[in-house]
Amino acid sequence: MARDNFFPPQLITFYRELEKMAVPEDKWQVEEAKLKTWNGKEPLVKEAPPEIDPEFFLAFTAKVFDLLQKHLPDLGPGLELVKTNLPENLEEVKRLAQALCQRDPIAITWLKDPASVPPDVFGFAFSHVTRLLLGAYTRKVRGSVNFSSWERGECPVCGAKPLLARLKRTGERFLYCGVCGMEWRFVRVTCPFCGNDSPGELGFWEGAEGYRADVCYRCRAYLKTVDERKHPEEGASLFWEDIKTVALDFAMLGKGFQNKAFTAS
Ligand SMILES: [Zn+2]
Ligand SMILES: [Zn+2]
Repeated sequence: MARDNFFPPQLITFYRELEKMAVPEDKWQVEEAKLKTWNGKEPLVKEAPPEIDPEFFLAFTAKVFDLLQKHLPDLGPGLELVKTNLPENLEEVKRLAQALCQRDPIAITWLKDPASVPPDVFGFAFSHVTRLLLGAYTRKVRGSVNFSSWERGECPVCGAKPLLARLKRTGERFLYCGVCGMEWRFVRVTCPFCGNDSPGELGFWEGAEGYRADVCYRCRAYLKTVDERKHPEEGASLFWEDIKTVALDFAMLGKGFQNKAFTAS
């Protein structure tokens, strides 16, 4: 059975179409000075958030929601609730966009009637909008900010926990953020989730050729890893590699490990 068969095909079509949606550079900006003075204490987006054109944000959100509704019709009623609760005041729209990009839980409070919208529906619907907006942000700032002093397991751009890792042919490990697309260097023999660096409590499970899951026996995390030393392609998109390796997720979950990118602690 192909590994792709584990992933809902309608979601793959949705992601393919979503990938075509561009975030034009003239629809958002960031204060260059704040990028330069970033001191590496907090994720970059907290210090230098993107300022998004609120009208563009509303139009973009509507397009993403339409696409979601087309491919996942079951979401329809929930999406309708989010749509009818979007703020109309452009200043509030700006704040909603900023809170979403900063992954700030107060984002939902910018809806007209937050209590009427289930948080999981709000979170899922906007996760796609945020991913595209932050993806554009990361691509732009990556070249102009020095991330070399960042030694933490969370994403230096948005603060999310890593979703995947890439083991380069040089032997260096890079962690990948599924929220903003950032990749940053991280020590090989340390769990990015709990900081455990005791070799006896770390290990890995081989997946299909070129894939493995690094595990931490202390916090029970697993981290899917593309091992480029064995993988036919160098620099493959980790977004798609994640989707292609859902079978490995099931295997690791079955062994009692957790995907910490999706857990609160
Ligand atoms: Zn990130
Ligand atoms: Zn750990």
